[in-house]
Amino acid sequence: MIAEKMKPFLKNNSAIRMMFEEGKRLKSIYGAENVFDFSLGNPSVPAPDCVRQAIIDLVNEEDPTVIHGYMSNAGFEDVRQTIAESLNRRFGTSFAGKNLIMTVGAASGLNVILKTIVNPGEEVIVFAPYFLEYGSYVRNYDGVLVEVSPNTETFQPNLEEFREKITGKTRAVIVNTPHNPTGVVYSEDTIKALAAILEEKQKEFDTVIYLISDEPYRELAYDGVEVPYLTKYYANTVVGYSYSKSLSLPGERIGYLVIPDEADGSEDMITAATIANRISGAVNAPSLIQKVIGRCVDAKTDVDAYDRNRKALYEGLIDLGFSCIRPQGAFYLFLKSPVADEKEFCSAGKKYNILMVPGSSFACPGYVRLAYCVSYETIINSLPQFEKLAQEYGLQKKQS
Ligand code: PLP
Repeated sequence: MIAEKMKPFLKNNSAIRMMFEEGKRLKSIYGAENVFDFSLGNPSVPAPDCVRQAIIDLVNEEDPTVIHGYMSNAGFEDVRQTIAESLNRRFGTSFAGKNLIMTVGAASGLNVILKTIVNPGEEVIVFAPYFLEYGSYVRNYDGVLVEVSPNTETFQPNLEEFREKITGKTRAVIVNTPHNPTGVVYSEDTIKALAAILEEKQKEFDTVIYLISDEPYRELAYDGVEVPYLTKYYANTVVGYSYSKSLSLPGERIGYLVIPDEADGSEDMITAATIANRISGAVNAPSLIQKVIGRCVDAKTDVDAYDRNRKALYEGLIDLGFSCIRPQGAFYLFLKSPVADEKEFCSAGKKYNILMVPGSSFACPGYVRLAYCVSYETIINSLPQFEKLAQEYGLQKKQS
């Protein structure tokens, strides 16, 4: 007999995961090279060589009782200090190691910070489209998820509606830039306007509203676009970072939270978040990979490989008559479905062995997400299949 809170999950198990399983099934029938699986954000670029070398060196040279042992629940002090210094160099911030808590990826980091700040019944605002797991994370702490509807022109946050949705119960706002699923990067003007609204509303309601910056895709930005560092625009910002995408380490489960000194109640928050890390069951982030991060702090994945995929897929699809906002970050493309029911469009795609995730999985029906963290060959070979799909919907090829 399972708990009431778990029952809805049985019915609505993640559509993305289900699609992944479908991909495996199709590959076993048609062969991997004939299936165009754009469903999962699993990096196709291997981790940089520095990671492999650091693992070998650490295992060969360091004391096993340290590299495989327990440490402070916030993580190894030397690693946190190294990351803080790297952030300070890159973004002109002034963090110390104590401002960082190593977490089990971004997912666990978000759970830790929500556990730290959300009381039952308090509201957490998100901007559609959004990573649907946010809803589950907020409900883990009996918070209430409040959605702001999408601005489908730009996919920048809809700030007028945001202002209206803030109440005396608003405890936090989650933003994600570069963005899953649209690939949009929030501009500095957007961030400034959002911060100004938060300042105004904190005064109006005499409350503290935290801005949670969920940024697993920070390093994946193209066309020279800047990704603003949010703690510089709004004092009550908490950053949740992950190495899942930036170093292609999603299975290693490693990331961190930054709780700056400027954030309201920072000292208690750091202590509470460290305890939350422990009592959520994570105890601490995995030890060996923390030490690896300490040695590879400025390493980067091959962003150019994703950029090449981005251009080939975006341009290929636009030429075929599809419409889509040009992504400038992450490794996703958010295609407008040629029919209102995007699930029907996803089903049609399967006939051509193309797997896409319906926008309703991100609270934005009418669109589909393509994760282009696949091989370049997959992108190129998928285009003739997309052409057949486009013809099925009567789309007009662009004249070249
Ligand atoms: N936040 C967003 C927006 C994501 O897209 C993901 C993963 O895809 C996560 C959080 C979770 O990342 P992690 O693997 O670091 O837990």
